[in-house]
Amino acid sequence: MDSQRLLWGDRQCEVCREELFCEGLFCPTCQREIDKLLYPVASRNEGYLLASMYHYDGLIRDLLRKMKFQEGRYLSRFFAGEIVRFLEENEIFAEAVSWIPMHRRKERRRGFDHAKDLAVETAKMLDIPFLPILRRAKPTRALYSLTAKERIGELKGAFEAALKEDERLWLVLDDILTTGSTVDEAAKILQEATIVNFVFLVIAR
Ligand SMILES: [Zn+2]
Repeated sequence: MDSQRLLWGDRQCEVCREELFCEGLFCPTCQREIDKLLYPVASRNEGYLLASMYHYDGLIRDLLRKMKFQEGRYLSRFFAGEIVRFLEENEIFAEAVSWIPMHRRKERRRGFDHAKDLAVETAKMLDIPFLPILRRAKPTRALYSLTAKERIGELKGAFEAALKEDERLWLVLDDILTTGSTVDEAAKILQEATIVNFVFLVIAR
């Protein structure tokens, strides 16, 4: 066994399966491809901040798709690391972590909720609590195939607040932002429940 292997163990790049002699999950080539997709944008909507870290494209899209399957669940730890880095860079000092939940029937079918995985791992790394602040009150159809007006109708009554009158700064996570309507609806429900300090952060949009 050569000294490189002794030092780094027998590991492979998560994307290209090339032998890995560095920290992290990716070889330098794949890491560069991932870095090219960085897309840290933030917009302030009706009194709340919505931020994203990456473009939903290329390797990021592949990794997020993989994370939706049981064998890719461990990737939530990598993305949680990215979330923590993003929060530090942007001086966002979250006090509690939550997520945009999927409907329990969907969660049962899939076996887990990958957005919740992100919240659990992020909370662990930041050593702050994670709790559900939203519940899915009804299942919704896939929104990407609907018009803007249909989306609003579909989302009406989709969420309920799971907490009330909480003053902590909440970090609310999701993997992908397809349209802003889900986040808008979630924000409305939180504000109605007097939870007013929250930041939505998605991995990619
Ligand atoms: Zn690679």
